Amino acid sequence: MSYQSLIEAQRTFFHSNVTKDIHFRLKQLRKLLAVLKENEPLLYKAIHEDFKKSEFDTYTTELSLVYHDIKEAIQMLPKWAKKKRTRTNLVNVPGKSYIIPEPLGVCLVIGAWNYPYQLSLAPIVAAIAAGNTVVLKPSELPANTSVAMAKILNTAFEENFIKVIEGGIPETTELLSCKFDKIFFTGSTTVGKIVYQAAAKNLTPVTLELGGKSPVFVTRDADIDNSAKRIVWGKFLNSGQTCIAPDYILVESSVQEKLLGSMKSYIEKFSYSFANENYIQIVNERNMKRLSKFIDKDKVYVGGKIHEEERFIEPTILRDVSFADKVMQEEIFGPILPVISFDSLDKAITQVKQGAKPLACYIFTNDAKIKEKILQEVSFGGGQVNDTLMHVVNYHLPFGGVGDSGIGSYHGEAGFKVFTHYKSILEKPFFGEPNLKYPPYSKNKLSWIKKILSF
Ligand code: NAD
Repeated sequence: MSYQSLIEAQRTFFHSNVTKDIHFRLKQLRKLLAVLKENEPLLYKAIHEDFKKSEFDTYTTELSLVYHDIKEAIQMLPKWAKKKRTRTNLVNVPGKSYIIPEPLGVCLVIGAWNYPYQLSLAPIVAAIAAGNTVVLKPSELPANTSVAMAKILNTAFEENFIKVIEGGIPETTELLSCKFDKIFFTGSTTVGKIVYQAAAKNLTPVTLELGGKSPVFVTRDADIDNSAKRIVWGKFLNSGQTCIAPDYILVESSVQEKLLGSMKSYIEKFSYSFANENYIQIVNERNMKRLSKFIDKDKVYVGGKIHEEERFIEPTILRDVSFADKVMQEEIFGPILPVISFDSLDKAITQVKQGAKPLACYIFTNDAKIKEKILQEVSFGGGQVNDTLMHVVNYHLPFGGVGDSGIGSYHGEAGFKVFTHYKSILEKPFFGEPNLKYPPYSKNKLSWIKKILSF
């Protein structure tokens, strides 16, 4: 079936109103949960074949988040999908006002490779909950996970409701030339711009979950040992291939040595390796080459070794880095952590603000004034004080970027909202209407209108 015919079939199904029924949506969400659980062994096998990701990491960083999103949607859907009453202003009395959440229609979800299950499936959960049909194009780079998702979803669901299309740039380009009612994209800022341009041709609304260089501030009053532990964990999880991974550290110079020493000891303690199932391969050769160029041998403090064949790069810390260095020119997206020291917090903040708005920012401090200053002055998608990454698993916090790091946010009700149009309705009875708005006009009518509108 051509993409165009598939989209037409999904649109016909959408117009049949079946997906608008809450019971249908709940049933599909339960079914999704069941088929994913049933097929967990296949999902674990595929991701391990792609980049040696362990069951522990796959469950904690991918499936558990998807399961949570499904369960929350099942529990909260009746409330989220409910018509909401709102106030009616005086000029419209008698009347009542309400907002109807309605699904957008046929949605395209494009996934990224670094958390292939979570980033493809969590948006689908939100799209189903909101009552849409979905075409999913997972990333082609972890090929086995893409095959696994296609096999599971294309077997469990009718293609006029959910269809996984596998492929790379040509397939995505062709899909983007079709008219969708919503595009939800996760990936790089560069490709995000291509998606946005394609969507503009059809005025299709987009959610863009993009990347960026997420800074970590560490100030002298922070608990340095705990900061080191939490930064090392957040940076080297998934071998640094996390959109919200700490990209670089800005540390107050008086505590730099202590922080470096502590981070080194945690890297040793955590003992990162494939065998210990706490480290994954770099996704492909191209990224191995790209990352290798960031390792300036003269600045290596820890690690720095590259094992080409195994696609393994040691957890690496670079010290005495400056903003002019190569490693600071683009998002790292790998296990290399540059450390830049500062004496003036104002100057450090200015440097961050000169770059694109990051997806995340982490602030390690015990000083409330410093915390407030950074939170007030630096714009970023979301972040944390005194920890890394964990904000993405607080389901009460919408997750998304700002500026170059994205448009829109999701998870929980925020996800439901991005796949929903809120239709505003004013309903009036046929009685009780004052005659003020109808001609013929008069001074008397105008003075009444002025009085009413001043409320
Ligand atoms: P990418 O932009 O290269 O690819 C993402 C998707 O776009 C893939 O499905 C790919 O097939 C498709 N694609 C690639 N090039 C294309 C083109 N020219 N035209 C049309 N489609 C194209 O991103 P990636 O390498 O998969 O992921 C890494 C980036 O994603 C990083 O910048 C990271 O920060 C970001 N990211 C963001 C989030 C988030 O939630 N904000 C999550 C994960 C990753």
